[in-house]
Amino acid sequence: MVNPRDININLENIRQGKTNSTLKIRQILANNTENFAQNRQMDAQSFYDYLIRKLDLDTFGIFIKTRCYDLVRCDNCNIQWENPENYQLINTHFLYFPEDCGNIIDFNSMFLLQATDRTCQHCNFNLKSRTKAIVNQKYMVICFQRANVRGERINTKFSNFNPECVLIDNQRFKVKSVVRHHGNTINSGHYTSLVNYNNQWWECNDETITRLTNFDNTLKDVYLLILELISH
Ligand SMILES: [Zn+2]
Repeated sequence: MVNPRDININLENIRQGKTNSTLKIRQILANNTENFAQNRQMDAQSFYDYLIRKLDLDTFGIFIKTRCYDLVRCDNCNIQWENPENYQLINTHFLYFPEDCGNIIDFNSMFLLQATDRTCQHCNFNLKSRTKAIVNQKYMVICFQRANVRGERINTKFSNFNPECVLIDNQRFKVKSVVRHHGNTINSGHYTSLVNYNNQWWECNDETITRLTNFDNTLKDVYLLILELISH
């Protein structure tokens, strides 16, 4: 067990890529927040969110503020409007993923359409909404739901997809990193990540970092996708 105070590294080292150990990063954050000082399972998205908010203290944050809003629709009245109160930072949930998405992930057509618990003011019909991303940043984080309302595990299935081509809002991204969750509930199990660094894929499992010969495009257990904008 390493005492966090013995580690002579700070957020500036993370930002400059000098600190790449997940355990060390967690220990740095433990100096700021008690949650990270304990051994209990942390949710990867809230961990990531906290890390980005800390890094957001300066210019790094301007590259990664992906915001979403809900498009709300009444099928009965045939009207649609934006829900301006639902702006979020890095919090996009996709429930469904096609069994075989081909070699292009097209999120344009995958935004979740769901009935909300509200009803239309005009006709009392159940309202449907879908999440629409505002894509004007260099980086984007997609969070896949890992459990349903009964706490049962949802597998995110990728099949034959190309990490070099992810379309969102008709803009092309490539996958920079994948955070995987291994376990039966969101409160248990283990997180690992795949990272593309200098056009090489690496698998990061706590302190163990392994060079991969190729990217596994049939991944299950995907929790977060970190994407980089290729071009406008
Ligand atoms: Zn209506």
